[in-house]
Amino acid sequence: MKLIKRLRVKTSAHVRLTKIATDETPGCRDKETAQEQLADTLAELPKLQYRLFAENRRAVLVVLQAMDAAGKDGVVRHVMSGLNPQACRVTSFKVPSALERQHDFLWRIHQAVPPAGEIGVFNRSHYEDVLVARVRKLVPPAVWKARFQMINDFERYLTENGVTVVKFFLHISRAEQAQRLDARLADPARNWKFTPADIEERRLWDDYQAAYEDVLSRCSTPWAPWHVVPADHKWYRNWAVAEVLRQAMRKMDLQFPPPRHDARDLRRRLAAQEAGKC
Ligand code: ATP
Ligand code: MG
Repeated sequence: MKLIKRLRVKTSAHVRLTKIATDETPGCRDKETAQEQLADTLAELPKLQYRLFAENRRAVLVVLQAMDAAGKDGVVRHVMSGLNPQACRVTSFKVPSALERQHDFLWRIHQAVPPAGEIGVFNRSHYEDVLVARVRKLVPPAVWKARFQMINDFERYLTENGVTVVKFFLHISRAEQAQRLDARLADPARNWKFTPADIEERRLWDDYQAAYEDVLSRCSTPWAPWHVVPADHKWYRNWAVAEVLRQAMRKMDLQFPPPRHDARDLRRRLAAQEAGKC
């Protein structure tokens, strides 16, 4: 619980990202400990997922936001890997399509919210509409400013309808991002999807950080809190996200539904059938 308190953004906090270290590892001593504990968490998550599926009343929504190369994909790979894909879906939100643009900004988001029994992961999310939309001036300030309240209301609505919302901002330093981008560019297996736009985005680092500060300050609510995860160390990032998710799911107190039939009677009938009596 201590970990969650440290990473969780208090409601109405005035977040200054420069004051939050990107390379610290609160709650975890070293890489070795993190890997041991991560293995333990990764073994428990599918069990919690199984209960969620069996209960079939509530859902979990994990929101991942970050600057490029901070590790959204890495989290999906390392933290969600042990889950049963039948009851887990990842949605990556890209530049809205023509159809999506004809709707309100939450339209496509709502459609991707996981149904009861499932875990949904948003790789980028509705927050892009107060991040890139603001930084790139895709809409006037009055439009994106009004969205904070809409987002809080929407997330409250989801929560009241049985969706547990857990949000992560993966916090890396500018220098760490440069190193990772360069490593990607140097690797033919990874540079294929790189575009000049990625470098252009980086030029707007300060604007994005300011936009993230507003997001974290204004949209960390009691019902859908943000967690700022120092993400320069990949091992810490994975460990922390997994741990926060585990604790959030434990807190749901997921229950198997009561049996719909008398199991003892059914076993008796099964045994009788096997014995060729009926
Ligand atoms: P990766 O590069 O690791 O595959 P990514 O999430 O960066 O993952 P891209 O296809 O490179 O995927 O980029 C998606 C782009 O879509 C981002 O630049 C993001 O800002 C943009 N985007 C997402 N949602 C919106 C939105 N609502 N309005 C405008 N742009 C958006
Ligand atoms: Mg990209």
